[in-house]
This record gives sequence, structure tokens and C-alpha cells, in this order.
Amino acid sequence: MTQEHMMKQEIQRHHWKQKSGSVTQTQKKQEKIDGNFIIPPSKSYLVESFVLNSVDRVIAKRRRNRRPDPFFSSSRKPNQEIFTLIPKRSGKKADEVDLQLLGSLFDNYVQVVNLMLARIYKDNDRVQSLGQQLSEYRGRAYTLLRKMRDLNYQQNEEIQALCFERLYRNALEHAGRTLLADWTRRQLFNAAIKVLSESAADALQLLRRKHIPSNLIRRVRDACDSAKNDGAGFHHSLGVLRQLRLALDDHILEEQGVKIQWRGRQRKYVASLLQDSVSEKERILFLTARKLEVWKENGYLFSVPCLRSHSLDFSASTENSPGQGYWFSVDPERKNEILFHIKLPPGINGTHHESSPYKGKTLAFRFLDWMSSATIKDGAKAQNAEDNGDCHRAQRLRFRAAMFEDMHQQLMNTIEIQHLTHRLYKVKQKKGKDGEETTKLQSKITELRSSRRSAPPRLLLRGNRISLQIPFLAPDDFLIQQVLGEREYEARAGVDRGIRVPVVLSVMKGKEYRELLLRVDQLVKKREFLRKQAYDLQSVTDRKRNNWGRKRSGLSYPKHILKKDRHIKALWRKIRRLDREIARIIASKTVWFCEEHRVKKIFFEDLRSFQAHGGSKDLSYNLSSNLWGKIIDTVRYMRVSLGHSPYSVWTVNPRFTSQTCHVCGERGVRVADEQSTVERRGGEYFYCSLCDEHFHADVNAARNIIHVQDRVSSAVPGGTA
Ligand SMILES: [Zn+2]
Repeated sequence: MTQEHMMKQEIQRHHWKQKSGSVTQTQKKQEKIDGNFIIPPSKSYLVESFVLNSVDRVIAKRRRNRRPDPFFSSSRKPNQEIFTLIPKRSGKKADEVDLQLLGSLFDNYVQVVNLMLARIYKDNDRVQSLGQQLSEYRGRAYTLLRKMRDLNYQQNEEIQALCFERLYRNALEHAGRTLLADWTRRQLFNAAIKVLSESAADALQLLRRKHIPSNLIRRVRDACDSAKNDGAGFHHSLGVLRQLRLALDDHILEEQGVKIQWRGRQRKYVASLLQDSVSEKERILFLTARKLEVWKENGYLFSVPCLRSHSLDFSASTENSPGQGYWFSVDPERKNEILFHIKLPPGINGTHHESSPYKGKTLAFRFLDWMSSATIKDGAKAQNAEDNGDCHRAQRLRFRAAMFEDMHQQLMNTIEIQHLTHRLYKVKQKKGKDGEETTKLQSKITELRSSRRSAPPRLLLRGNRISLQIPFLAPDDFLIQQVLGEREYEARAGVDRGIRVPVVLSVMKGKEYRELLLRVDQLVKKREFLRKQAYDLQSVTDRKRNNWGRKRSGLSYPKHILKKDRHIKALWRKIRRLDREIARIIASKTVWFCEEHRVKKIFFEDLRSFQAHGGSKDLSYNLSSNLWGKIIDTVRYMRVSLGHSPYSVWTVNPRFTSQTCHVCGERGVRVADEQSTVERRGGEYFYCSLCDEHFHADVNAARNIIHVQDRVSSAVPGGTA
């Protein structure tokens, strides 16, 4: 599950990366003094989310006009009067009609993508050859695929009935990306089958051990030509091996005639059959080898990918022109609010909206451009901090204010260029062409084209919530230098989960170390409390549901059970929100501490071997792997916004980092306190007998993490992934 999630992220990251490359291509090349051209560095994007509201809704701004919602007052039943008196501001942001229209737009989109996929996957050889072509193709997938007769827009009425031409391009791009991802996965699968069928020892390792050995993963990755020789390729190979192990487990269980529901127990059972002392080991190995041979001969039975997406990506658009199917305009009446219009596909009728170029095919929303007010607020806070003598905080806030200001400007530039190109188009269409206006518009557009603008957005529908994700260009060197000044980065930092505190950060500058212990006690405690509540409620509800199912099977669940379900969902929403908050706080502290000490590279313990620390079981700040992943992602995001490469954040294997001395590299022991030299597992301190010195275990581990990359031989802690 987490693996899948990670792969999705990987693909998504790749996709933004791809786009940033294409933007660079259309950019003008910069000329150096000696007349040679240099290609500007590729750009990175920061994606910000905006919640879409129905057009006639009043957007609730923070701390303004907020009143308690009568629906949620628990102490007394609200009477009818209150409902009529208090205007409803909380609750759904988009009304039912808009949600339905957007839902049918997504339906059409999904239908088109699946139609294309079904046509491609009818023929296996075609999947092979198209996948191969796409993997070698440099441009956008749709430019290659639209040449095919059965995928072409002009020649297919079924496709025309579902979407307009630009939306078709997006859909085809989507189908192309899905095909490429699936093809790469199939290649990896075949490589894994080949590797395992050639060596019985590898197959045994895979089935017997809990963790999949990293050298096996690396060999599978290297055996496949289309897998990338990097971290992403590693994670994809790991995912493929996990799935292959699942398929093998299923086969073995079936042959044994054993039925086990739960995946964890299935795994334990199969692993137990393969212990050296068990008589059935040979038979199981034979079964496995035979199955692998069958797959190698006849091919593995892959499923056809099918889209069930609730997102709409406009990224196949090359330019923010109205034809792309979305249109921004600034609301002239309400401050800082932007109207967002979507063009509906054929067969779905929207409402006419004044500022929309799509006439009756419009679906309109509005969102708050909070960036300009955030600029002002952060600016005031920065002044405040400066007055109080906290210059680091002031600098931090200054930078954030400048970044938001820049993003706001990017959005405004995007809107302006959209409107100007549209007007130019209209002027050109008119009979008595106005030459003067045309040239004026043309020059303005050219000017805007070289300015900073946001990239095409993405729409996401989750439940009743619609969010618009806009990728903004990360602050450029000029802006960073203006706010933070010229900087040289040299130091390195290591981040580890601690025993005393959730996160320990250690920075190495020259030969010196600086540590920062990060606490988020209150939030983590709150999170644990909510999580426990959610688990308890879940088990109660499950029991009730089982009872109901036994007594009245076939009948739908009664109201009180459904209400509990909603309660559980709300609890998990709260927990996820807390997670985001915790990750944000820790990441922000980490990144700015690193900024203060001019850190060039940050190393994190990676997630692969993520297990609870010895002795930390009952501590409330035992961070989950999910949360750890979020922290790393947020740190990466913030580093990028500060002008660092996304590859300045590394994850390393934390093997032995808690048992090795960071000074001499010798194995040491964990002890109870600063005087003791007697080993105690999970003790708070670390003792090295060679140096005869005590360190706090957290600090020692974090310092070790910094060095994992330097020492690649197996005698020293860790190893790079
Ligand atoms: Zn030592």
C-alpha cells in the first residue's frame, strides 16, 4: 500500500519534472558574452492548492464573519429559528449542481481515457511496440499517439461525442503516460521473473525473509533496460518484487490447500514452510521454480490498466490559452477573489457566465487568492520580529512574504496573458481589422511571455471538495539573493528519529557539530489520542455491523451505524490534518536551521527499514512511517523554494547508525546513563570503549547519518540506497 503510494508520488514527481523540461525548451536561450548559447537551468515548480467554491457562495475568510454552525452544537437541539437567522457559511463549498456537473465532466474524461486504453490493449504486440516507442520518445505522448487511426480525434465520432479537441489531447496524454508506466512495470516484472528463475537461492531469500534484500532489488533493476538506474527505479523494482511475492504466496497457499485471509499471516505461514528444519521446504521450492518457469515461458498474466481517477490534469496544454478548457478572471467586485471557468464537454450543458469565453458550456467556480494578503501579514510579522531582535525569524518571514508576492504576480501574469491572447484572437477575427491594436496586443503578449507565470493547473475532486492545484515557479536566484543575501553552502546535516524527542537534527560544519532537538509534544499527544479514539470506535462499529449483517443480511445499515462511520471518517480527517501540521512544523524548523548554518546536503533515515526504536514502544512520539515520509517531502519542497536542488535532500540506510561511534566508527553499546558502561538495550546513552566517551544516543545516530554516504563498505554503518 505505502509502496503503491510512493510509486504514484514518484510518477507524479517525474511528471512535473517532465513538464519543467518542456518549459525550458520553449524558453529563449540566453547568450553569453563570448557568443555561445547556454541553456538556462531547468525550473522547479511549487504546487499550491486552492479550494474551489460555488460562484454565488461567500468565501469564509479566516476570523471574519465566522459563526458556530448550528448543525454541530451538541449540547442542545437547535430550533428552526436559528437556522433561518444564521446564514450558512460552513459546510459544503460547492453546491450540488456544480458538483454534479464536474462529476459528469470527470466521467467523460475517464471514459475517453479508458476507451483509448482498451483499444491499445486489445493487441499485446501493440502494447509492447507502443511502450517501447514511448520510452524512447522525447516529446509529449499525445503527439505520437494521435497519428494512430483509432486514437485520432477527427476520425473517431465516439471520442468527439465525449470531449472537445483540447480535452482529447489531455486524455490522450494521460492514456500515454498510463501506458508507459504500465509497460515499464511489465518490463520490470519480466526481469524479476528472469532473475528469480535463474537462481533458486534468490527465490528462497525473497520468500523466506521479511525484508526484501536490497541487492536483489538492485539486480532486478539492473536487469531491466527500461528501469532508471536511480532511487525511483529502485522503488519500482521493490514494488514489483512485493507483488511477485504475493502472487507466489497465493500459488503456494493454493497448492497447500490452505486458506488464510490476512496478508501478514499468509506471509508468516509461507516463510515458516521454508525454514531449513521443515520437511516441506524442497517441495515448496520446486513449486516456486515451476511456477516461475511457467511465467517465463507463457508470460505473466497482466491486468489491463484502467483509470478511476478523480483528477483532471491540464498539463498537456502548452499555453494558458482559453482553448485549453480553463479560464481565469479576476472578480471585479470582490477583493482577491478569482473566478475559474471550466469548459464542459459535448452533451453537458452549463450556465452562461458573463466573464467566460465558453458561453453556455461554462462551469464556474471562485477561489480566494490568499497570497497577496499573506504577503502583507507576513511582512507585518517580520517587522514585529525585527523590533523584538529576532533576526532569524524576521528573515524567515521576509522570505515567505517575498515568495507569496512572487506567486501572486505569477498568477496575475497568467491571467493577463490569457485575456490578451483571447482579445487578440477576437480582434483578428473581426472584419475591419484594427492594425494598431493588433500590434499593441502582440507586443504586450511578447513581453508577458518572458515574464514568470504559473503552469497549467490540475483539478482534484475528493468527496465534496474540489481543489485546484496550481504549479508556481519556485523563487529564482534573484529573489532569494535579494532577501537572504549572497550565500555559500557547505555544511551537511543528518536527521534521525530520536528517543528523547521525535526528531534530532545534527549539522556538521567543518569539524564541529550543532544539534537541534525538535519537539512537537502537544500535537503528537493530540494525534495519538485521536488515533486511539478512531480505532476504538472502528472496532465497536465493526462489531455492530457484523451483528446487523447476521440478523438482517441484505438490509442496508441503519442510521446509527452510518452516523458512526461518518464520525470515524471525521476523526481520520482530523488526524491527517494534524499530520500535515506536524510535518510542516518539523520541516520548517529543520530547513531554517539548515539555512542558518548553510547546509548543502541533508540526509534522512530512509523508510525502507522503518521500524520502531528499541525501547520507544510506549513513547507517544513514536513517529509513523507515513509521517516521516511527509516530513521528508515537506523538507524537499521547502528546500526547493529556497533555491536548492530537490536532490539536496537524501535518504540513506540507517543500518547500525545507533550502534556505531561517530568519531572512530567502532561498534559501541547503548547504556542507561552518562556514567554507566554496562550494555542496556535501548538505553538513552551510547558508550564507545575505544574513545572511552559517552554520547547521547540520538545525537550519535544523527551524526552517523551524515557519514553514511562516505562509507560504503559493509564494515561501517549504513549504505546508500
Ligand atoms: Zn569511538
